[in-house]
Amino acid sequence: MYVEQATRQQLQDWQEELFANHQRFMSSGLNLDLTRGKPSAAQLSLANVLDGILDGNYFSADGTDTRNYGGLDGLPAMRQLAADMLGVKAEEILVGGNSSLTLMYFSVLFAWQFGLSGPDSAWRHEGAIKFLCPVPGYDRHFAICEKFGIEMVNVPMNNDGPDMDVVEALIRNDPGIKGIWCVPKYSNPTGCIYSANTIERLAKLGSIAAPNFRVFYDNAYAVHDLKDSPAELANIMAFCEKQGTENSVLQFGSTSKITFAGAGVAFMAGSKANLNTMKKHLEIATIGPDKVNQLRHLKMIGNMTELRNHMARHAELLRPRFACALQHLEENFRDSDLGEWSPPDGGYFISFDTRPGLASAVIRLAAEAGVKLTPAGATFPYGKDPDDKNIRLAPSFPTVEDIDRAMAVFCNAVKLASVNQRLGA
Ligand code: PMP
Repeated sequence: MYVEQATRQQLQDWQEELFANHQRFMSSGLNLDLTRGKPSAAQLSLANVLDGILDGNYFSADGTDTRNYGGLDGLPAMRQLAADMLGVKAEEILVGGNSSLTLMYFSVLFAWQFGLSGPDSAWRHEGAIKFLCPVPGYDRHFAICEKFGIEMVNVPMNNDGPDMDVVEALIRNDPGIKGIWCVPKYSNPTGCIYSANTIERLAKLGSIAAPNFRVFYDNAYAVHDLKDSPAELANIMAFCEKQGTENSVLQFGSTSKITFAGAGVAFMAGSKANLNTMKKHLEIATIGPDKVNQLRHLKMIGNMTELRNHMARHAELLRPRFACALQHLEENFRDSDLGEWSPPDGGYFISFDTRPGLASAVIRLAAEAGVKLTPAGATFPYGKDPDDKNIRLAPSFPTVEDIDRAMAVFCNAVKLASVNQRLGA
């Protein structure tokens, strides 16, 4: 269906047919939800073995009694596993609690209040500061900035990561830019993987930005591949070492979508200087993280081979869900001017762009017909999508049958909104 080329009569015929479908959906009492970027119960059950896995043995391989206080950095074996996931050295890892988002929030808080390169570098001394936000992006990153009153500047997202020409030009001209949010692998929500060139340029930003600038490199989907031979992500720390910009990047990850989403192990990676600064404050806030949970994770997925085998089981559950959603998009929009998307090779989302100005209308129509979609604008700073076109679809949580029914409603809503727009309705 090409609405640009259609005659008024064709558009009116389509409108009648699509509206009839819409009414049929409305009267069928659906109650479906494509908003939740969380693992399904079946995925969580893959990690049920965590319960009782220690069988009374609380000592880690290095002899730590995990039940007791201490170990601010994390167990050595947990640091090694996290290091292998993020492509850094074990001594560059700090293990946290259950949430990497908390580590990101605290990193911003430390940088703001205490300064990551000494007290004079604290962002709060500098008046209005800014973060670059590749869009569409992750709403919770944007929420952190909003909480601190950090101004967010949209940067276009390409298929190989943020538009680095724009990023570099902005940073060269504005020392008030203190950070950039990045999800380098299976970006939330577009699913793109940053190219080696993009990553090298991100690693170089430390040499052109203000000294208290940091790349917030959230590798939440480091091992969340849908395909058997996944693309490799270039190593940002290796580029930083070449450039002498090791202090300019903070990396984050967790096992949230590997084991239990609410009871996993989170970690961050940074230069020794960055980690030592953070730890000086962290040791005031805690005597140490949950080492018992770290040990349980090590027993279950203690090395990259075990971890990858486990993730292959996740992929088996996720693949049919993504395939179902993508099949609907293909069948309805392959030959059309109604929307754009790219099938992701991993992660948790499909990012769909409607014709400009239609995302809110599509989401409203779908809601009327009993299908909840992520609110329009959620993937943009301040909840404002300037083109009102991006919709984040999250197929991990519902069953394949529910995705099938929800996508039929969604596709009809996209078509109806597009035809309505052309007819000026
Ligand atoms: N980062 C990204 C990009 C995410 O999509 C998510 C979860 N949706 C998180 C972080 C949350 O991670 P955690 O559970 O470790 O806080």
